[in-house]
Amino acid sequence: MKKIQLKSRAKINLSLDVLGKRPDGYHEVKMIMQEIDLYDNIILVEKRHEDSIKIISECPYIPKDRTNIAYRAAEVLKKNFDISWGVNIYIEKNIPVAAGMAGGSSNAAAVLKGLNTLWDLKLTQQQLMDIGITIGADVPFCIMGGAAIAEGMGEKLTPIEGLRNTWILVAKPSISVSTAEVYSRLDLEKINKKPDTEKLLEAMERGDLYALSHNMVNVLETVTLKQHPIIKELKRKMMEYQALGSMMSGSGPTVFGIYKDYKKAKSAKNNLAIINKQTFLIQSYSKGNKDE
Ligand code: ATP
Repeated sequence: MKKIQLKSRAKINLSLDVLGKRPDGYHEVKMIMQEIDLYDNIILVEKRHEDSIKIISECPYIPKDRTNIAYRAAEVLKKNFDISWGVNIYIEKNIPVAAGMAGGSSNAAAVLKGLNTLWDLKLTQQQLMDIGITIGADVPFCIMGGAAIAEGMGEKLTPIEGLRNTWILVAKPSISVSTAEVYSRLDLEKINKKPDTEKLLEAMERGDLYALSHNMVNVLETVTLKQHPIIKELKRKMMEYQALGSMMSGSGPTVFGIYKDYKKAKSAKNNLAIINKQTFLIQSYSKGNKDE
């Protein structure tokens, strides 16, 4: 019985801009994505005598049926390549669910990569990414890992040099935010501050965390900060606890803070964890997923 274990890492957005709405209803975005070292553990165990796909997880917040995006990833490969074997997918969840950190997309990416090995499909990374986009807009980035500019629906990727030696404090408040609702409430006319991607990229290239932190913009905050004052409060707290900058990731509600100095970050984590249960201190992850 063959099995394979993979780390399924989360991402944060260092910027998020919405350029417009397409006729099909999707929004055209431009964002800087950064993989971080907060991960779910995924174990794939092949079943040669059964052909079913099974999701096994103790996490109560994710579906265990075919609506789980990791299930869909396995199903697509099984159908496309006519695989008659089954697989058990164990998901140990650490990434907060529905948080703006692409937890589900990352699980789907890990399943595609893992089954490529387990089923000996010999697909290239680009082929896996082409399959990934049929499952979800963030899946190709999660397959590629590292850091990238994402355009289109989020699937047009340009790899960039990511953050190194950077501490990221992540706080997920205990509220739920629907991505679809945030986008539907977004009024493009009312956005007066947009991210300057070039400026952010230059700051990243120079390793200038101060300039990066001061220029991060997520236009979706115009919706969520008004609706959920806790997001604004977490950002304020992070700045009070000496973050270089703080912003909401994706459509929220997760807030992150950037730190160069580990001691400051650790002290901020200890303080914030008192008022916000899901608080994590991790590092950025810029090597891509080449070790798996
Ligand atoms: P993104 O940043 O890509 O918008 P997210 O972090 O906001 O993603 P997810 O954690 O991926 O959101 O979860 C979104 C929804 O998908 C949840 O309602 C969850 O129940 C469902 N879901 C399905 N499969 C998974 C999975 N394997 N892990 C997490 N959520 C899943």
